[in-house]
Amino acid sequence: MDKSEILNGIVNTTILHSDYKQTNGYSKNVITNGTHEKKNVESTVTNDLYSNKSANTYHNFSRSRCDSITLDDDKESKILVIYTGGTIGMMRNNDDVLVPTPNSFERKIKQDPHLYDAAYAQKKYGPAMNSSPLVLPKVKGFRRIIYSIYQYNELLDSSNMSIKDWKQIAEDIWQAYELYDGFVVLHGTDTLAYTASALSFMFENLGKTVIITGAQLPVFDLRTDGNDNFVNSLLIAGNYNIPEVTIFFHNKLLRGNRTVKIDSENFDAFDSPNVPPLAIAGIEINVSFRQIYRPKTIEKFSVHLSLNEHVSLLRIFPNITADTVRTFLQPPIEGVVLQTYGAGNLPCNREDIMAEVKKATDRGVMILNCSQCSKGSVNSVYQTGHILNQVGVISGNDITPEAALAKLSYVLSKDDWDFNTKRMMLGRNLRGEMGGGKSEQPNTLAEWDLVDAVARTLHVSSPHELNVLGAVLFPAMLSNAIVRSDLTKLDELKGFGADFSAQNSDGRTGLHLACALGNLKVVRYLLLNGSSVHIKDRFDRTPIIDAVENDHIEVIKLLRRCGAHLNSHPKYIGQQLCNAAAKGNINRLESYATAGADIATLSDINGRTALHTAALLNHEDVIDYLIDNQFADGEILDLMSVSPIEIARRKGHTNILEKLMNLSKYINK
Ligand code: ASP
Repeated sequence: MDKSEILNGIVNTTILHSDYKQTNGYSKNVITNGTHEKKNVESTVTNDLYSNKSANTYHNFSRSRCDSITLDDDKESKILVIYTGGTIGMMRNNDDVLVPTPNSFERKIKQDPHLYDAAYAQKKYGPAMNSSPLVLPKVKGFRRIIYSIYQYNELLDSSNMSIKDWKQIAEDIWQAYELYDGFVVLHGTDTLAYTASALSFMFENLGKTVIITGAQLPVFDLRTDGNDNFVNSLLIAGNYNIPEVTIFFHNKLLRGNRTVKIDSENFDAFDSPNVPPLAIAGIEINVSFRQIYRPKTIEKFSVHLSLNEHVSLLRIFPNITADTVRTFLQPPIEGVVLQTYGAGNLPCNREDIMAEVKKATDRGVMILNCSQCSKGSVNSVYQTGHILNQVGVISGNDITPEAALAKLSYVLSKDDWDFNTKRMMLGRNLRGEMGGGKSEQPNTLAEWDLVDAVARTLHVSSPHELNVLGAVLFPAMLSNAIVRSDLTKLDELKGFGADFSAQNSDGRTGLHLACALGNLKVVRYLLLNGSSVHIKDRFDRTPIIDAVENDHIEVIKLLRRCGAHLNSHPKYIGQQLCNAAAKGNINRLESYATAGADIATLSDINGRTALHTAALLNHEDVIDYLIDNQFADGEILDLMSVSPIEIARRKGHTNILEKLMNLSKYINK
């Protein structure tokens, strides 16, 4: 695919407005070779979005989805795989040496029945072409994973990666964000923890699962950890909403900014010493939902791309000289991670070193203290550590050096934060990268007492069974409070550590329910307490669909501010729009428009838009609404090549005909 195909693909796929591609221009549909192409009369898509892309593969799911008029049987999740390099995708050459082999990864995947279900792909997307998506074989109990691989032109050993590469990955995920349910990044293991840490800060208000994985042996080797790492990453990204940058390795899903590489030889190469895994892949995949760090703001996902490069790591050792410290802290250095002994200690009998540190902090250099021990945190129990606080060093608590460096780089580049705010932010937990103190821990639970009581009655005793019971009871208690709009009760449940994104047995969350009921106050409360707008229920519905189908416009607006978007099958939405137009239900059209549906171009399986339907049934008020809101294109053709104008003419709906003709004249002027 060349760049224009990529752009066209993205435009076609979207069909729904996305903020990147949103334009003040007026959208007009034409038909080229039987497929709809969206053309904008005014300038539209920012063409530089994909300027650095390899022309390799950036599949166009929705085009295939639009072409296919059959709605899905299997519930599917769409995953974008970004392949940056590393051992995981390497192949052995004739000398048995591992080398990155451009353009072979995807071809090899298509030959591997464990990674590609050729029969399903053929049935769903027709004969395999370069642009058709990949399909993972069905795994019982999980959504079907449809994935695309976007391979970088230059496959990198991760030791050669730098800020520029982090930005590239971040930008790519940002641009594809609304088109996919989750993201998997294939990466070399050496600097994987640095990349994960950096991305975790660059991604602001992340709402979808991002997993970075790699392997000690290539995915196509017979003896490999790569296969497990890759497949589990795909399954987790497509089945669980874990809106963090995580690392999957050797059956563990770890928080990225808590992780360090601990082993260069064994499969169990990564660990997050200060926090337990977010999920463990055994016979089942067990996710610790209550541990997941969720954004608690009403803001959309965005990416902060300008990192400060003037940061560094200084490891204290017994005979370090004051000269070394002074030289190290000189401009242009603006931020330093100071790796101190044990619980954050520096030799307090070394006044010369202390003086250098103080001079630097007085000049405005930010110094973040973290321990040389991989487990535990820095604190000021000893005099040796206490003194550091007095000379302006900020405590990094139990942060890893990798995360500390990334955090400095991020915080120092935030132009809208003044000096004191930056210092404050460095000491605060921003993305789960360090312990947040007592408030993070849920109370020991009165609500859990209820769970305990039920458990006793049922003779349930193992921790696992107790957790399962809690997972059943908490959503029910949440629902009850939501139905009664009881914010006090919701507060109590929060205090007891309830997961506000918990799903009931239909996969529905409290937010689904609140959106259906339309209580704005409750919806706001839930969003501010970590409810996800992206979780799909068993029927593939995200909360915004509940709000749309009940016409709660203010709720829809609030969800949109939080980054919610429609992700139903475009033909399904097209059908709903035609139904609304047929019934003269302008509210419903408005609800869909508010949710981001492109009313002018979305069509049902016959290629008919809301305008076709309104013209056919002579709904003048609907026509007026569509015209007034620039949702009308009188010349758009359905699959029988009939336009709304033609329909109005044939049916003798003269008022409508006149309005649409005037509209066309105006647009074509
Ligand atoms: N040196 C390689 C890299 O980090 C090792 C690996 O892929 O695991 O890219």
